[in-house]
Amino acid sequence: MQSTHPLNVLKFCPKCGSSSLITYKDLSLKCNDCGFHFYVNSAAAVAALVVNGDGKLLLTTRAVEPDFGKLDLPGGFIDPGESAEEAVKRELWEELGMKVKEMEYIISAPNEYIFSGISVFTLDMAFRVIPETVSGLKAQDDILDFRFYAENEIDFSQIPAPSINYFVKQFFRK
Ligand SMILES: [Zn+2]
Repeated sequence: MQSTHPLNVLKFCPKCGSSSLITYKDLSLKCNDCGFHFYVNSAAAVAALVVNGDGKLLLTTRAVEPDFGKLDLPGGFIDPGESAEEAVKRELWEELGMKVKEMEYIISAPNEYIFSGISVFTLDMAFRVIPETVSGLKAQDDILDFRFYAENEIDFSQIPAPSINYFVKQFFRK
């Protein structure tokens, strides 16, 4: 287990504060004092493959860590109580002011996202999205910029998240 894994980072029971914890494989920890059992699960997240009329793909430039300034797809974590489709619509509206005309689920891939010193394991779900319009979009929220790219215009080394890199490659393979 690496140093940022939750079971290495968490030193005290989140419920009672005891330091008497037992870990099971790298999947959970249990408190010896109060019996609290904490599981390391994947957080659900979405990524949008937004296509324009020329078949080019929208990539964003990140305005937040990790990977500030690198390329990404629009998207983010699914809020508790939200569906994946609702999260796609919300993230596209927040990041770009974009309204969705059609969307279709494509594929998923796992990822590990190190945030404030702890690994957050995600399951990223990719949706192909046709927007109502691509005019009047604005980079806002946690993105600096966006652009539509043909495959030969993309430097894949600038897409650090493995799941996102994979989604973009799969998109152009079709
Ligand atoms: Zn406890």
